[in-house]
Amino acid sequence: MNPVSGFSLWDLESDIISAIESKGWTKPTEIQLEAIPIGRKGLDIVGQAKTGSGKTAAFGIPLLEKCSKSGNVQAVVLCPTRELAVQVAEEMDSLQGKKGLEIQTVYGGVDLEKQAKKLSQGVDIVVGTPGRVIDMTKRKFLNLENVEIFCLDEADRMLDMGFFPDVLWIFEKMENRKQTMLFSATFPQEILDAADEFMSEAVHIMSEDLDVEVPEINQYGIMIGRMNKLWALGRIISNLNEGDQMLIFANTKRMVDILVERLERSKIKAIGLHGDIAQGKREKILGLFRDGEYRIVVATDVAARGLDVDGITHVINYDLPDDTESYVHRIGRTGRMGKKGESWSFVTKEDVTMLNKIASTWNMEIPMVEVPNLNPNFDRDPIKKREDWGEVSDVFGMVKLNLQVGEKGASKKTICDWIINMTKIPELAIGEIIQDSENTIVEVHVEKISYVIGVLKNKKFKDIDLRPNVE
Ligand code: ADP
Ligand code: MG
Repeated sequence: MNPVSGFSLWDLESDIISAIESKGWTKPTEIQLEAIPIGRKGLDIVGQAKTGSGKTAAFGIPLLEKCSKSGNVQAVVLCPTRELAVQVAEEMDSLQGKKGLEIQTVYGGVDLEKQAKKLSQGVDIVVGTPGRVIDMTKRKFLNLENVEIFCLDEADRMLDMGFFPDVLWIFEKMENRKQTMLFSATFPQEILDAADEFMSEAVHIMSEDLDVEVPEINQYGIMIGRMNKLWALGRIISNLNEGDQMLIFANTKRMVDILVERLERSKIKAIGLHGDIAQGKREKILGLFRDGEYRIVVATDVAARGLDVDGITHVINYDLPDDTESYVHRIGRTGRMGKKGESWSFVTKEDVTMLNKIASTWNMEIPMVEVPNLNPNFDRDPIKKREDWGEVSDVFGMVKLNLQVGEKGASKKTICDWIINMTKIPELAIGEIIQDSENTIVEVHVEKISYVIGVLKNKKFKDIDLRPNVE
C-alpha cells in the first residue's frame, strides 16, 4: 500500500508529497482532510479543531502549493507569539521539501536590521507576529500590497481585543488579498463576529462536538489553599516517571519566576518561560524542552500557547486560568497525537466557581481528588507542608482555635481576657467563643492565629496546658 495514500489522492505537488512522506505522515488528520481541498480551491476558511490536530498543515499545504519562488511576499501567516511563529515556519519549511520557497519569520525581540536585510533579499512567505510585521511594513521592508494569502493561526487569540486592531491594520494593507484562512482550537461567538470583518463567505469547518476539543487525558482537581500548592506540586513531581515531562502554568510572569525559584530551593530543577525572557533564550529553552533535556517548565499562557512539544505528560494548573478557553489550551499541551497525558488543577476556595464553569462549558468532568501520596522511593516530601489557616477560616476570616479547657475550668470571659492579656492582640481579633465540658473553641482572626498559637503553646492557664490546636 502507498504509505501516503490519503495525501496522494489529492495529487499535491511532488515536492510536498515527498516532504510529507519523509515526515512519515501516513494519512491526513480530520481537519486536514476537510480543509486542504477547500484551501486548494482558494476559498476562505474558518477552521476549528482541537489543539494538536494538525492545523498548521491544514492551511500550510494549500498555502505552500499556491506560492512560487518569486522573492515577493505572497502569503502572510500571523501568530500570537514568537515561539509559535518559529514553530509554524519550521513546520511549513519541512512541508515544502525541495520547493525552495523563502519562508521568513518576522517577530519582535530580535535584531530588526537582520530581519530587514533578509526581507530585502527577497522572501516568498512571511510568518510573524503582528507588532513586528506592522513595524517592517511601516519601514518599507515589507510590502503587503501583493500578498494573496492571509492566515491567522490561533485565530481566537489574534482576533481578541489585544491583537484585533493590529491584525486589522495589516489586513487593510493587503489590497490584493485573494484568500483568508483562520484556524483555531476555539471560536467563541464574538471571535466569529470579528472574523466577519475579514471575509463574508468563508467555509466554516467546525468540529461537531465541543467534547472532541478536549484532549482525552486524565484530568484531576485538587482542593488546596495557596500556601500548600507547592507541597502538592512536590508530591506530583515525586511521582513522575523516567522520561515524563511537566508543563506548569502560572498566571503571571512574576509567579513563574517565584515558582522556579522555590522549586530550585527544593532542589527541583525547573525552567521559566515568559514574555520577559529574551527571545534567543526562549527558543533555546524550547529546543531543550523538546529534546527532553529539561523536565519541568513553568510558563505563562502566552509563552506556552500552541507550543508543540510532544513529550509533555503532565500539565499543572498551578493557578487556574481566568477563562475557560485557556484551560483547554493548557491541557492540550499533553496527550498530543493520541498519546497519554494527565492534568492537575489546583483549586482554592475562590476557584471553585471557575472550575465548575470550565467543566460545564466543555461538558467534561474534572474529578476532585486528594493530593497524591508521596512516591515510596522518597523518604520525605520534596516540599514541606505548611499550616494554611486561610483554607480553614470562615467568610469573616475567623479560624476556630481549640483549647483543652472545659466550661467548669473557666468562663468564656476569663479565657478571652486571658488570651488578650497574654498576646496583646486587639479584642476585635477574637470572635465567638463556644464551650462544652471538655473544650473551649475560640474564634481567632486568620492573621493572628499563628502568633496566638505560638504564644499560648508556651503558657499555662492556671496550671492547665491548653494544647491550642486548629482542627
Ligand atoms: P495544531 O496546530 O492543531 O495544534 P499542529 O499543526 O501543531 O497542531 O500539529 C501537531 C503535531 O502533529 C505536529 O507535530 C505535526 O507535525 C503533527 N502532524 C500534523 N499532521 C499530521 C499527520 N497528518 N500525521 C502525523 N502527524 C501530523
Ligand atoms: Mg497550531
